Amino acid sequence: MSRVEHDSYKESDCLCGQGQVTKHVASTDYPFGGADVRYTLDCSHCSRTWRLQGSGTFVDRATEQAAARAGEGAMALYRQHAALASQIIDRHMQALGPMTRKAELEELHRLGFSSATYAAYTKSRREGSSPGEAAHARPGSRTLLQIAGPDRADVERLGREIEAADAAYKEAGARVVRRRVGA
Ligand SMILES: [Zn+2]
Repeated sequence: MSRVEHDSYKESDCLCGQGQVTKHVASTDYPFGGADVRYTLDCSHCSRTWRLQGSGTFVDRATEQAAARAGEGAMALYRQHAALASQIIDRHMQALGPMTRKAELEELHRLGFSSATYAAYTKSRREGSSPGEAAHARPGSRTLLQIAGPDRADVERLGREIEAADAAYKEAGARVVRRRVGA
């Protein structure tokens, strides 16, 4: 059995100066074990504003949460787009009439909506996915627009919204405030 030794000591003052950042080191006497280092922010005042990442970086909670919300907003739009694209692709496939799995996949490959192997495609079909659900059309796909029929305006709107949401997410990510401990 190897022994684990825990050491804790003050790494630096916190950002407001009323508390501190504590470094915790857990090391074993096992030669290849290395040491496990983590930091805690021991200040009730700073903890409200800052989160301390294990690696020793303060992250401002408000700007981090804003970025997370922006990311969730973009993800919701991507899910809406995927659901609409599935419907459109299924309608397209139905209009072509009954098909073998092989012909379905060839059509999806032709349209650029799948790069799946036959084995992977038939597996997802067996598991209950429709052809549209087994496919993937990226937002902004011209081919999807061409077969969208009555959903064309919605596809275009979602494409624009996704573009804006992606930009907002990127911006919010760049605005997350981080500070190195002790800097
Ligand atoms: Zn503080």
